[in-house]
Amino acid sequence: MIPFLSILCAVLAAGLVVSVVALYRTRAAARRERMRLATEQERALETLNAEQNVILDALSDAFFLVDSDYLIRRANAPARDLLPGREILGRSLGEIFLHKNLAKPIRKAIKTGRRVTKNILLPHPVFPGGGEDQSGVTAWVIDAAPIEVAGSPPLTRVIVRDVTAEYQTEQVRKDFVANASHELRTPLAIINGYLENLVDDDLVEDPETSRRFLTIMRKHADRISRIVEDMLVIARLESGEAGQLKMEPFAFEACAHDVLERLQPLISAQGSKVRLAAAPEGLAIVGDRFYWTQILFNLVENALKQNPARPLDIEIGYDAEGEADGSVRIWVTDNGVGIPSADLPFIFRRFYRVEKHHSQGTIRGTGLGLSIVKRAVEAHGGEITASSTPGEETRFEIVLPPEAVAPREAEVAGGPM
Ligand code: ADP
Repeated sequence: MIPFLSILCAVLAAGLVVSVVALYRTRAAARRERMRLATEQERALETLNAEQNVILDALSDAFFLVDSDYLIRRANAPARDLLPGREILGRSLGEIFLHKNLAKPIRKAIKTGRRVTKNILLPHPVFPGGGEDQSGVTAWVIDAAPIEVAGSPPLTRVIVRDVTAEYQTEQVRKDFVANASHELRTPLAIINGYLENLVDDDLVEDPETSRRFLTIMRKHADRISRIVEDMLVIARLESGEAGQLKMEPFAFEACAHDVLERLQPLISAQGSKVRLAAAPEGLAIVGDRFYWTQILFNLVENALKQNPARPLDIEIGYDAEGEADGSVRIWVTDNGVGIPSADLPFIFRRFYRVEKHHSQGTIRGTGLGLSIVKRAVEAHGGEITASSTPGEETRFEIVLPPEAVAPREAEVAGGPM
């Protein structure tokens, strides 16, 4: 009996042990499965997060997520670029946007729960540690809107867009309109004045006075025509018509000869000498000859105009060998009064004139000549710079990319090179 009971107990104990072990194994397996799932979920979240970061960093605008306590929860790469070297995450709006005008629309969006968009102009520096700004003013668009993320406390997404370039372009356009109106108003007022005199004071009857007044009026009408012509050329070059330039190879020397022929009366009257420093193999340009005539005409005429009582040595030249990268330099130099260094950075601006030269009473210049030259050169993919040592050498130098120069054997318009 006793052995039977012992055997039964042993069997039951063994069964219990087996069950406990099986239970333990099952629970361990379940725990491992839970851990595996948790790790997988974590990895999936990390991947999602990384993908979101890649997308956010690819935006061209600065992007922030701000919580209801005004703390920054997320910032993309452009946002970090805006605030170089600064801790952003977990910081408050007030610490990040040092100018209160930037934080104001964001606070408003958080408080009201509505989207707020605002254009803001700021004096430089806008952001701590931000880059230098030449104009002293930067322009920004702040766009803040609440967003809902399931299971997350309320957040507001903020986009900060730098629109300084657009703002400056708009300023240039406004200045152009204001300057053009001003430039046209003066000769118009003069013409009106003389007309009033002629009509109201019955001076029409006096042929001598009439003739004198009409001559003056014509001079000012010519000036209006010149300004309008120049403005149209600039407008054409800026309106994208540059893409429709008539690009064909032509002989640079032939174009320069045309220009000098047209300016010959002025050159002779002044006793100036113009040298065309051409290489025997010549230079063929691929471009619009109409605009190249304007470029050379304006540069040589400027030299002559600015030195009415001074015989000049003018040179038009180019380096036929070209630079190592295949680009070509073209220059126009003179040894006249020159351009003061303080004025040099501005001479390519529309309507900019170096005042003191105009005490000569001349009204020939419109202040648009060099603007046309610069835009025409740029339309051909080139760049122009100016340097001047008054009385010694004033040099306008154009660098043309290889594609603006025709191979020597190319068929060229305008005769032999
Ligand atoms: P403008 O119609 O008055 O000539 P531009 O745009 O052609 O206008 O030139 C701008 C200013 O640059 C001129 O008013 C003149 O003061 C100066 N300038 C241009 N070229 C020369 C030069 N070769 N020598 C001296 N001054 C020059």
